[in-house]
Amino acid sequence: MARVLIIGAGGVGRVTTHKCARAADIFSDIMLASRNRDKCDGIAAELSRPIQTARVDADNVAELCQLIRSFRPDVVIHVALPYQDLTIMEACLETGVHYIDTANYEDPKALTFRYKEQWEFNERFAAAGITGLLGCGFDPGVTNAYIAYGLKKYFDEIRFVDIMDCNAGDHGKPFATNFNPELNIREITLPGRFWENGSWKEIPAMSVHKPFDFPEIGEREMYLLYHEEMESLVRHIPGLVRIRFWMTFSEKYLTHLRVLENVGLTSIEPVMFQGRPVIPLEFLKALLPDPASLAANYKGKTNIGCMMHGVKDGKERSYFIYNVCDHEACYRETRSQAVSYTAGVPPAVGAMMLATGAWNKRGVVNVEELDPEPFLMKLAQVGLPFTEVFPDQTAS
Ligand code: NDP
Repeated sequence: MARVLIIGAGGVGRVTTHKCARAADIFSDIMLASRNRDKCDGIAAELSRPIQTARVDADNVAELCQLIRSFRPDVVIHVALPYQDLTIMEACLETGVHYIDTANYEDPKALTFRYKEQWEFNERFAAAGITGLLGCGFDPGVTNAYIAYGLKKYFDEIRFVDIMDCNAGDHGKPFATNFNPELNIREITLPGRFWENGSWKEIPAMSVHKPFDFPEIGEREMYLLYHEEMESLVRHIPGLVRIRFWMTFSEKYLTHLRVLENVGLTSIEPVMFQGRPVIPLEFLKALLPDPASLAANYKGKTNIGCMMHGVKDGKERSYFIYNVCDHEACYRETRSQAVSYTAGVPPAVGAMMLATGAWNKRGVVNVEELDPEPFLMKLAQVGLPFTEVFPDQTAS
């Protein structure tokens, strides 16, 4: 039996906590800690068994170490914000505890998100005999496992990958983001990027798009974006010729975003307002609905999956693997919408993999470096099943 500490009581943290609480055969003791303890207590009150809660400032390594030493977890699941990746990794290293997150490190003052700083922990984690499991949400996370699974089961070499993320849900608000607005808007207003023939190609934000017929949803327009899992996948999947990431957006969403961008509200450069510096994007976040508040009225489905093309026994073949999630079903189960649900279940299952020894590679690892099979099978059991299709088409 294992002890798990979950840090971050937002939309994703709620789902992770619900799923860990239900795994009574694996987790004997659970603590949920966040900047605001009331939020943790609110989530704890929804559960069918007691958990501990605490307040912690995850930007503060000493405070984190103190909490870890007092609770003595076997694994820490970090579902606060990517700004805290390095401090929480540092605390896990100092206390000798496994670490899991769902998003790579972002510098709050610069528009970068990358694995470099986290990969630099590898040797120290390995020497300490602990695992730092990076990007174990849905995308990154399950998408990485889908590609590893495709490679293990159906291909000698995967050459083309399209990761496709469709949210066809409707929350009834004119404009809102599905997870932390600051992170979401930073991600989609940057130039698009994809990997082809050994190098990154850059395109203006949202300039490349095409329709795709998503199973159980129908045709939606999807836009080429840069997304963090590609950085590790190009490193770990041999023979890749091209990998791209696509996300669907409605015309209404894009119009709002264009206006917000044009008036400067998506900028992270401080502006002086009434004698005080204000960061427009942080101010915008304060105006937009809390993503967790969308859950109660969200209707419709998400479909996230990976289309792969490659070669098996000298023959070309295609493989599509995806998950469909229903916003209302997620809400009934965990009081969260499907975007939080798809991101929050995988770190709980990642912790189960580490706790049971199904995953025992030490050092800092990305999900595609581990055996995808026990992970995907457990995910299917606890709420994120997958469907496989072998389309009769080649890469386009
Ligand atoms: P939220 O903003 O809803 O929640 C973040 C939580 O972290 C809040 O409870 C917040 O506290 C807490 N927090 C923030 N800063 C600190 C701090 N310094 N110390 C302690 N707690 C802190 O975000 P989401 O739940 O939507 O997202 C959580 C994470 O999941 C993010 O890293 C996001 O990038 C990632 N994600 C990953 C996905 C994937 O598929 N891989 C998809 C979606 C999200 P407070 O309540 O006080 O603000």
